[in-house]
Amino acid sequence: MHERIGIAHIATGDLLRAAVAGRSELGRAAQAYMSRGELVPDALVIDMIDHRLQENGPDPSFMLDGFPRTVAQAEALESMLGRQHLPLDHVLCLDVPREELVRRLSGRRTCTQCGAMCHVIFDPPATAGVCDRCGGALIQRDDDREETIRARLVVYDTSTAPLTAFYRSRSLLREIDGTGSPAQVFERVVAQLNGGQGGRPSGGPAPTAARS
Ligand code: AMP
Repeated sequence: MHERIGIAHIATGDLLRAAVAGRSELGRAAQAYMSRGELVPDALVIDMIDHRLQENGPDPSFMLDGFPRTVAQAEALESMLGRQHLPLDHVLCLDVPREELVRRLSGRRTCTQCGAMCHVIFDPPATAGVCDRCGGALIQRDDDREETIRARLVVYDTSTAPLTAFYRSRSLLREIDGTGSPAQVFERVVAQLNGGQGGRPSGGPAPTAARS
């Protein structure tokens, strides 16, 4: 649950990394795609989200992070929400210059124990390689290596960028300036969800299509 927005936060990257760590059938199938910076096949990701949404309980509000990433996933999401009679209120697209994305992702470190993230330049740990929160070892994810980040940006251009036209044509796209500090970007997101510039009031589920 996101503590300020007050709705469930469902991130496909987190769900897939948990599947890889748990060595489930899905995790074994997804691992190689993820470490090369490629998209996990649509059928696997759509099935995973379909199951996750059915577990959502009586409160239908949620935010999807990192999904959909292809037009096929977006069409599948429309059918899933249609079956459950749930509206899609907003699609958020965070706009960040390429070189800034490379700087952010290549400096990111993730705790092997608690999953907390930090950044070697923007948010360095007190002791290099050690998580401030739990003392676990910090690692660089395979897909945060610079050559893999550049491969992910190519995948973005070919597979994910077409979603902006898809959602713009449905008047759902909210383009947000993703530069600046995490706190500044967060305030812009909240303003959009509260019906800020170009936005509509939130109420139901709020999936996001964020550039990554
Ligand atoms: P993320 O944490 O969102 O950056 O995702 C990490 C990796 O998980 C991506 O590079 C993909 O390999 C995979 N992944 C996450 N979400 C999706 C998705 N919607 N479709 C396909 N692959 C995904």
